[in-house]
Amino acid sequence: MAANVLVLGGGFAGLESAIQLSRAGLRVTLVSERDYIYIYPISIWIPTREIKFEDACMPLGEVCRRHGIKFLVNPVSSIDPHLGRVVLEDGSDLAYDYLVIAIGAGKTRPEGVEFTSSICGAPEAVMPIRDRLDELISRGRGSIAVGFGGNPKDPSAVRGGPAFEFIFNIHYLLKKKGLLDNFKLSMFAPMPQPGIRLGEKAYKMMVSWLDRLNIERRFGKKIKKFREGEVVFADDSRLPADLIMFIAAGHGHKVLMSSGLPQNEAGFLLINDQCQVEGHDNIFAVGDSAALDGPKWRAKQGHLAEVMARVAAENIKDLSQGKTPSAGYQKHISILCVMDFGNGAAYVHRDDNSSTVRPLPIVGHWLKKAWGHYWKLNKNGKIPRLPGT
Ligand SMILES: Cc1cc2nc3c(=O)[nH]c(=O)nc-3n(C[C@H](O)[C@H](O)[C@H](O)COP(=O)(O)OP(=O)(O)OC[C@H]3O[C@@H](n4cnc5c(N)ncnc54)[C@H](O)[C@@H]3O)c2cc1C
Repeated sequence: MAANVLVLGGGFAGLESAIQLSRAGLRVTLVSERDYIYIYPISIWIPTREIKFEDACMPLGEVCRRHGIKFLVNPVSSIDPHLGRVVLEDGSDLAYDYLVIAIGAGKTRPEGVEFTSSICGAPEAVMPIRDRLDELISRGRGSIAVGFGGNPKDPSAVRGGPAFEFIFNIHYLLKKKGLLDNFKLSMFAPMPQPGIRLGEKAYKMMVSWLDRLNIERRFGKKIKKFREGEVVFADDSRLPADLIMFIAAGHGHKVLMSSGLPQNEAGFLLINDQCQVEGHDNIFAVGDSAALDGPKWRAKQGHLAEVMARVAAENIKDLSQGKTPSAGYQKHISILCVMDFGNGAAYVHRDDNSSTVRPLPIVGHWLKKAWGHYWKLNKNGKIPRLPGT
């Protein structure tokens, strides 16, 4: 009988793992806390009402049915690697021959974070941002501060790209509505050069856009806390705002803490190049749950999560056939993003050998939108995967 693989988490990493494992002829169960996958890269357009919340969601039940994957909606509450069991919130437990952990990351909680909202948390958390933006627009004036934090214990757990995309899209929306003169837009981050991991050229481009669009920059200032309607920095300077969108840095998922599985200082699972959790040949970690090993500029991204998923699936297939796993994720580490600014985008790519930035006025925006449709069709098995995606 084919080996039984349990995949935890229905995000980019979990879904791709489950699809590839099922294609390899293994018996796959996917467990997730919600019945849909949330397509974060296109969710940046929900607050500006360019897309609806539902457009960024894809029901998992149907995709799993198409691929012959057993799908359970039930949050995972604990993992016991020694007994080889996973316990779900309803008290039931599941056994596995191979386990793929893809439950994403947790978020750090700086003081007063409850006075901020984030486009990078639970999917529903985007709705109050959209509603607040609506209020400010109907009032005709306001101030919006957008920022992100860092985790010194794991610099790859920073998520700055969506913060830039969010503020550029808001700028474009306000411009279309003729309201720019009545709004103050600001960006803040504790690192002196936020976004530098994308490469020198990309960083300079983003900074010059911010300056050209008259978006105030508060970079290199440690964030002390948030209060209602303001960001307070370590030097006690303040940034008042009617809407604060803050993306906290990531850390390990809470379910992993009690698992006894090896983690780095930030709580991400330690893996080898084959995506196997250190010391556990039959347990794999992929996507945002894993501690990445590689160049200093490495970043947790959706495209890398999918690469890791394919690596893990190939290695599990090999192991189940008595072969030595040989696929590795590290050689695929790169940064790839189409950074959207509402009426265009910039293609950014960085790997060990080069760093590329290509402005794509107008067409870039539509390319990113088209990617969202392509991605859904591909996962539903309706069109093949494009090379390089
Ligand atoms: C706004 C935004 C824009 C982005 N844009 C881009 C981009 O343009 N390009 C790019 O490459 N990357 C982008 N990223 C990053 C990318 O989305 C992440 O790297 C990717 O989602 C990681 O995939 P994952 O499957 O590891 O984690 P997640 O997508 O976080 O998925 C984790 C899954 O596990 C489930 N889960 C969590 N806890 C439990 C539990 N206890 N039990 C069961 N299930 C659980 C969750 O519901 C979810 O389905 C963006 C991220 C954000 C937030």
